[in-house]
Amino acid sequence: MKILVINCGSSSLKYQIFDMDDESVLVQGLVERIGIEGSRLTQKHGDDKYVVEEEIPNHDHAVKMVFDAIQDKEHGVIESIDEIQAIGHRVLHGGDKLSESTIIDQKVKDVIREFIKFGPLHNPANLMGIEACEKAAPGKKNIAVFDTAFHQTMPPEIYMYGIPYKFYEKYRLRKYGFHGTSHRYLTLRTAEIMEKKPEDLNIITVHLGNGSSLSGVKEGKCLVTSMGLTPLEGLIMGTRSGDLDPSAMTFLMNEEGYTADEMNELLNKESGVLGISGISSDFRDLEEAAKKGNERAQLALDMFNYRCKRFLGSYMITLGHVDCITFAGGLGENSPETRATLLENLEEYGIKIDPEKNNCRGKEQIISTDDSRITVMVVPTNEELMIARDTMELI
Ligand code: ADP
Repeated sequence: MKILVINCGSSSLKYQIFDMDDESVLVQGLVERIGIEGSRLTQKHGDDKYVVEEEIPNHDHAVKMVFDAIQDKEHGVIESIDEIQAIGHRVLHGGDKLSESTIIDQKVKDVIREFIKFGPLHNPANLMGIEACEKAAPGKKNIAVFDTAFHQTMPPEIYMYGIPYKFYEKYRLRKYGFHGTSHRYLTLRTAEIMEKKPEDLNIITVHLGNGSSLSGVKEGKCLVTSMGLTPLEGLIMGTRSGDLDPSAMTFLMNEEGYTADEMNELLNKESGVLGISGISSDFRDLEEAAKKGNERAQLALDMFNYRCKRFLGSYMITLGHVDCITFAGGLGENSPETRATLLENLEEYGIKIDPEKNNCRGKEQIISTDDSRITVMVVPTNEELMIARDTMELI
């Protein structure tokens, strides 16, 4: 069975085809700069790289190009679109209406549309991708896999905000959480590695990338997560501020005259380790600058690490008992330094890292010592595979 997985952004579209017999990736590609000058499609499988440069005015055109590329006589991997059994779509926000992956019908599209209010950049793009696929392959089943779904098991005392209740009733204003597909994959994979059922484990999943979040997963279900109404809450990220006193925002709006949209832009795109260091949102650049003595780069890293530790500690207490801590994401998978800094001197709390085992990048590895009470590991996340599995199950 072959499944096409699509992750559609406002100006980009990533895709992969999985052969679900062995969960291998047959082909993957990226359409860039949709609606912007210089647009192109790049597709790879094995050593073959196929690039098509042409004007791509909209998502309909982008999806048509993908369908052509995967069926291309020379560079394609299928002869006909009939070989694709279904299409799985990554969707940012399903609000509190959709707590599981779902076959897309008009009602599901209405929910995605309703929650554009909390995902104004992603949900419209996700919808465009879905509707483009419906047009390009009529009758083919489309499945939505939501970033918010895994976190729908959080209890109200964790997802409610301390503001008047009427705003929850009126707008469904609350914590939702994101990266859910990644946190779910990490939960399932951690359990497999531990040779246990997810229900028999308490896990803290730590996804550190450009966007970062932690989840406290109790007996296989998400109890708490660090992102909120939008992905802005929680950790300090590449360009996002994470938690701050809301008065800082109103102060800046008053003093600098920022509008709500400008404030949103500042907190999402100009803050985080980029805003603090003034150098870069990429942790590799910051580590290099810090080594050369750049104090603000070091401060940004220290702040990032402190905030992570704060959440780790909080989730250990919230969960009560922790069996595993699992790292993923570009930074979590590839930076032994970050992992070592976050977990040093925690023997008292049952965490002992083996520096040799920790010296690994981008591969599955247990990095705690054999006598560490909590097992700490690195698991490269695989959201696309999770989407493909859900899609297969649903059809
Ligand atoms: P996204 O959240 O956009 O999916 P990724 O999970 O791909 O991001 O993570 C990207 C980030 O991971 C980069 O910005 C970079 O800071 C960090 N990163 C990747 N490789 C390394 C590395 N070897 N050392 C330190 N940081 C790294």
